[in-house]
Amino acid sequence: MNNFDSDLEQRLAGIQAQGLGRHLRRVDSAQGRTIEVGGRQLLNFSSNDYLGLANHPALREAAQAATGKFGAGSGASRLICGSLALFHELEESLAAFKGTAAALTFSTGYATALGTIAALLGKEDILVVDKLIHASMVDAARLSGAKLRIFAHNDLNDLEHILKWADGVRNPPTAAKQRPSILIVTESVFSMDGDLAPLREMVELKERYGAWLMVDEAHATGLFGARRRGVGEVTGVSARIEIQMGTLGKAFGSSGGYVCGSRPLIDYLVNRARSFIFSTAPVPAAAGAALQAIELIRSAAGKLLCEQAWARATELQQQLPFPAAPAATPTSLILPFHVGDETAAVALANRLMQAGCFVPAIRYPTVARRTARLRFTATAAHRFEDVTSLASALNS
Ligand SMILES: *Cc1c(COP(=O)(O)O)cnc(C)c1O
Repeated sequence: MNNFDSDLEQRLAGIQAQGLGRHLRRVDSAQGRTIEVGGRQLLNFSSNDYLGLANHPALREAAQAATGKFGAGSGASRLICGSLALFHELEESLAAFKGTAAALTFSTGYATALGTIAALLGKEDILVVDKLIHASMVDAARLSGAKLRIFAHNDLNDLEHILKWADGVRNPPTAAKQRPSILIVTESVFSMDGDLAPLREMVELKERYGAWLMVDEAHATGLFGARRRGVGEVTGVSARIEIQMGTLGKAFGSSGGYVCGSRPLIDYLVNRARSFIFSTAPVPAAAGAALQAIELIRSAAGKLLCEQAWARATELQQQLPFPAAPAATPTSLILPFHVGDETAAVALANRLMQAGCFVPAIRYPTVARRTARLRFTATAAHRFEDVTSLASALNS
């Protein structure tokens, strides 16, 4: 073997030895209540397709119609000749759905975070993030070169402490240069813990210290609020959040990412977000499906799907043997089952798979070392008896 491959083999062995090895599991079916893996139908409790839209007939049809009209590919980046009418319709629809002046879509949520943060901040600026923020934000911090400060998870005192420091950096006695910007980033629903950020208090703080706030609603849009806009709607502070981002790949059942906000924000991103500028526009099918998803989510049918997902989450919370006795109602559709040890978490996931339930173990580097867990998600596609099957598999 040449040096390159043997070097990589050695690194892989190191990863395996820590119980952190990962491999792809081939899925031979569409997304849904069950997925086919290794010739078996497994109940799927691992998906972010919260409303069961990824394989919904209306979205399939919309994706096919978009392909029929605009083709399989977009041909170029948005700023060359790829800015198809569908993307403009999607952005208008997203802005209307979220109640903002404008919106911009990207190929993925990951590209959204990277492009947006790196466009807004430079190395003189300060990025303040929650300890449990998604990896895309951490990568964005590195890319932007901004000073990164991390506050303890959902800890407002720690956040204020950092904002006071940042304010001092920004206002030195001999201020000559341009004032650095301070951007706070949080998730509204934390992806691996399922808990919520104190958005109202964070908005108060960022206003007191003249910082900007970016909220990633990846696990909340479509699922929270009377209009299903997200936690910003529930807390009544969305109009005071400068940057509302999310993904089209979770509750929306499609693929892509978005930023909703003011017209100047969107115009600026079109000029400065490198992951938007230097990348081919998404496929028409993804935009067509996402447009249909917004329409569905806003409708009475969408309300019903949302209610079904929450009902399944409540049943999961009541039936699964969670280590800490939880509240009667779940905080989100994400229910983490803490194991701790990486190898033990994998063993439990394997045992559930034998029993017909698909729930992968979440380990470092997705979460901190020794905090491995199973991450159960409730979706509208599940039935009551699926929850019972999972609970009995877990209790056996
Ligand atoms: C999934 C996720 C993303 C990335 O979105 P993709 O569209 O999957 O790239 C960003 N932020 C959070 C919190 C996520 O959970």
